[in-house]
Amino acid sequence: MKLLIGSHVSYKTDTGLLGCVKETLDYNANTFMFYTGAPQNTKRSKINDEITYKAYELMKENNIDLENIIVHAPYIINLCNDNNFDFSVSFLKQEIERCNQLNITKLVLHPGSSVGLERNYAIDNIIKGLNIVLDNNYNVTICLETMAGKGTEVGKTFEEIKTIIDNIKNKNKIGVCLDTCHINDAGYDLNEFDKVLDDFDKIIGLNYLKCIHINDSKNPIASHKDRHENIGFGTIGYDNLIKIIYNKRIEHLPKILETPYITKNDTTKEKIYPPYKFEIAMIKNKEFNPNLINDIRNYYS
Ligand code: FE
Ligand code: FE
Ligand code: ZN
Repeated sequence: MKLLIGSHVSYKTDTGLLGCVKETLDYNANTFMFYTGAPQNTKRSKINDEITYKAYELMKENNIDLENIIVHAPYIINLCNDNNFDFSVSFLKQEIERCNQLNITKLVLHPGSSVGLERNYAIDNIIKGLNIVLDNNYNVTICLETMAGKGTEVGKTFEEIKTIIDNIKNKNKIGVCLDTCHINDAGYDLNEFDKVLDDFDKIIGLNYLKCIHINDSKNPIASHKDRHENIGFGTIGYDNLIKIIYNKRIEHLPKILETPYITKNDTTKEKIYPPYKFEIAMIKNKEFNPNLINDIRNYYS
C-alpha cells in the first residue's frame, strides 16, 4: 500500500480547491487538509464549481483520492458553551454543506473547551450539537481531534472521546483524528505507539480512526501545551514519528503534517517558508535531515 502523506495547505478564494491541489503536488504529497477560510473567523466565500472540477481533474491525473482529503473546521466553533451554541451549530452545519459541495467526506473538529462550565455539562452540549448537525443526508464524517488538554480542552483522553461517540446517534458519521503532538502533550507515550493504538482500540475502536496529524512537539510528554515542532526537531523525535507514519495498522489512513513554517533567518520572527516539501522528502527517504531548516531557507530565498 502506498504511503498517504500530505500537509495543511491554503485554500484561497480565487483558486479554491485547485490551489490546494497545486500546492500539494509542489510538496510531492498525495493528500492534503485545508480550512475553507481563515481558521479564526467565519468569513467564507462562495465555492466556484468550475474551479473545483478542474481540481478533480488534476487530482485524477496525479492519483490523489478525494476520499483522503480533509477539511478542518475553524477553532471558533465551541459547542460546549451555551452562549456560543447556536452560532457553533449553524456554522458547523454550513461547514458540512461546504464539504458536501466539494465532495469531501472528512471534517476534523476540535471537540471544544468547557471554560467555566461543569465538565459533564459541557460534554453533553457537544453531544447535543453533534447530533443536530449530523442529522442530514450528507456523506460527511466529523472526526473529533484528540487534544493536548491545554486549558479546559475536551478530548485529552480517549475515554472522553469515547463518551462523546457513545452518545452519537449517527455512528457512521463520527470518527477520530489522532494528533501526535496533542497526544504526547496529553500524556500518551509515543515511544510505544503500538501500545497507544492498543489503548485506542480497546477504548474507542480502531475502526473510528480516520485521520492522523503528524507533528513533533516542542514540549515534553503530559505538558498540556500544544505547540507543534518540525519533524525530528522536537521531543517525540524523528525515529518515533517514522515508526508511526509507517505503522501497518494505520497505513490506510491519511497522514497530515501541521508543522510550523520556517523563519527567513535566526533573527527574524515571521514564519514565511513552508517546511512540507522537505519534511515529506525526509519522511520518504526514511533518513533524518539535520540540515532541514537551512535547506528550506536556501530553497525558498
Ligand atoms: Fe486541529
Ligand atoms: Fe492537529
Ligand atoms: Zn495542535
